[in-house]
This record gives sequence, C-alpha cells and structure tokens, in this order.
Amino acid sequence: MEFSTAARGEQGAMPVNGLPPYDPNNIFARILRGEIPCRKVYEDAFALAFHDINPQAPVHVLVIPKGPYCSFADFSAAAGAEEIAGFVRAVGKIAKDLGLEAPGYRLLANMGADSGQEVPHFHVHLFGGRPLGRMLGHGAPRADG
Ligand code: AMP
Repeated sequence: MEFSTAARGEQGAMPVNGLPPYDPNNIFARILRGEIPCRKVYEDAFALAFHDINPQAPVHVLVIPKGPYCSFADFSAAAGAEEIAGFVRAVGKIAKDLGLEAPGYRLLANMGADSGQEVPHFHVHLFGGRPLGRMLGHGAPRADG
C-alpha cells in the first residue's frame, strides 16, 4: 500500500484544528519518514507505535496510521476500509502485547482545538500501568463563552 507523505516537520505547541489539508511537515510525519527518532514499540503496514516523549502514565504509547490523516475526523472519513481495520487491529494487538488487557487501559484521540490536539497527524494515545481515574480532566471555559 502506498501512502503519500512529503517532507518537513516540527511540532506545534498550539492546538490545531484537526482538519485537512494535511501538513506533511508535522512531527509524526517526520517520524514516519525516519527523519527523527522515536522509541518504537510496534510497526506493521498500517501503524507505527512509539512511546510518548512526555508520558502521562507508566505506559503512554502513541499509535499512528501510516497514511496522511490529520485527525480522527479525517481518518474516519477518508481512510480505506483496509487501513481502518489494520489500524484498529494494531492498536488492540499493541495493548495486548504490552500486557495491558488484564489490568486495563485507556485509548484517547484528540480532535481539534477544544481537545488540545497539538500534532496534526491522527494518533491514539494508549495509557496504562496504573488506575487511570475517571474520564476527563477539568477544562477551562472558552474565552467566547
Ligand atoms: P495531542 O495533544 O493529542 O496532539 O498529543 C500529542 C502528543 O505527542 C503529546 O502527548 C506529546 O508529548 C507527543 N509528542 C510530541 N512530540 C513527540 C515526539 N517527538 N516523540 C514522541 N511523542 C511526541
């Protein structure tokens, strides 16, 4: 399968809107191209998984599709059935291989500004290794109310 990612890249500290067009210079695109290193956990035809650089739990792994999708919104609308199935199966396999099925784990995907998404390449956060508390932290109200 062929994926079209070009070159460049850096991480934006500001939230992104998560909508196309895809920025081929984002930091995860650069990791996919091997331009910058990552602590790889898993790779197959559809997914790459690596440790988050700023872990929020004892296990904090990012799973990204190999195709150029900005967010869950983009991936769910534009990816092919084979890519979606391959990616979802990879996430499940990674969690299992990490020994997280018995104790449990959490998946999280940020989409757009309200979520705080920073990297405009779809990714799933995989958290585990301790009790993770209830769903959400407390956000701040929007400036516009
Ligand atoms: P999000 O806010 O959902 O876009 O999450 C982006 C995540 O990417 C954050 O948890 C960052 O710590 C993580 N991150 C940014 N740059 C890197 C990198 N070079 N290697 C691993 N994780 C990274």
